[in-house]
Amino acid sequence: IVGAVRYAELCSAGRQLLLDNGFTLVENETTVPWTAEDLAPLLPTASAAICGVEVYGPEQFDAAPRLKIISRLGVGLDNIDLAEARRHGVDVVNAPGGNAIAVAELALGLLISLYRKIPAMNDDIRSGNWDRYVGSEVTGKRFGLIGFGAIARVFARRLAGFDAEILAYDPYADPELAAELGVKLVGLEEAVRDVDVVSVHAPHVPSTHHIVNTELIATMRPGTVLLNTSRGGLVDESALVSALESGHLAGAGLDVFETEPVNPSNPLLAFPTVVATTHAAADSLEAYHRIGLSTAQAIVDVFSG
Ligand code: NAD
Repeated sequence: IVGAVRYAELCSAGRQLLLDNGFTLVENETTVPWTAEDLAPLLPTASAAICGVEVYGPEQFDAAPRLKIISRLGVGLDNIDLAEARRHGVDVVNAPGGNAIAVAELALGLLISLYRKIPAMNDDIRSGNWDRYVGSEVTGKRFGLIGFGAIARVFARRLAGFDAEILAYDPYADPELAAELGVKLVGLEEAVRDVDVVSVHAPHVPSTHHIVNTELIATMRPGTVLLNTSRGGLVDESALVSALESGHLAGAGLDVFETEPVNPSNPLLAFPTVVATTHAAADSLEAYHRIGLSTAQAIVDVFSG
């Protein structure tokens, strides 16, 4: 198995499962993501690949005649040419939902940080200021979710503990799942028009690029807060900057940016009403463990028929 395993030391249960099943692992613990040059010498003998964000295109599949499976340590498959995988008879498996709890919890963390101004107080107390900040409560707020997949569903379950009212826009969502969670499926504008918090949980594909743009923000009521833990490209950052400047949006909790790593001069970082994290929503030890195990199990399953 050839694996660009970013979290090698953290998903030790997954590693052990592979070793117990007689696999030999060739790991990369140094430079991540792997370039095509890093990958090239390993492909001719690899029968399985544990894949991070390195690219698998026609060149890689042609060079890997023994490859039976690419097991993605994570969810996104945009770095793998799926048509090419099919043509070569290579299974591609990901770990859907493995990081849903981690991401949903970070979204909630961003919201509470924003509402209660935790970062400002944290800075203040360290510089000798003991000021009083008055914030808002999450309890009883109305939420509009854009995308209602694995992460949004976990988020909705957690929000139930805050007596939240939840609307969601997702053209492909299962109405029964939504009803079970007390979530009302509505159109995009209705989902964001009359809520306290808009939270984005859809994939970044052409149809969702800049789904949160000037026009959509204009339909939100003044004082709405935006959370984005999905992908930077879903939100038009210049539209967000204008809405924060004018005060139309009261704040934003952002784990993702249109360009990452984010440039320190990105105007979003200048707003005290923005709480930002480093695309770290999925990074919990528990998620690494869950995903590591299911990534390894997918490989074991393929070879045990
Ligand atoms: P998921 O596939 O379970 O859910 C995505 C949902 O979006 C699906 O229900 C789908 O029907 C819906 N959708 C598709 N097109 C849509 C559209 N045009 N409008 C509205 N909804 C649409 O994925 P997930 O596990 O819930 O993850 C959601 C997103 O979160 C991922 O696509 C990824 O970009 C992002 N993510 C970010 C991190 C992070 O570290 N910040 C980690 C994991 C995932």
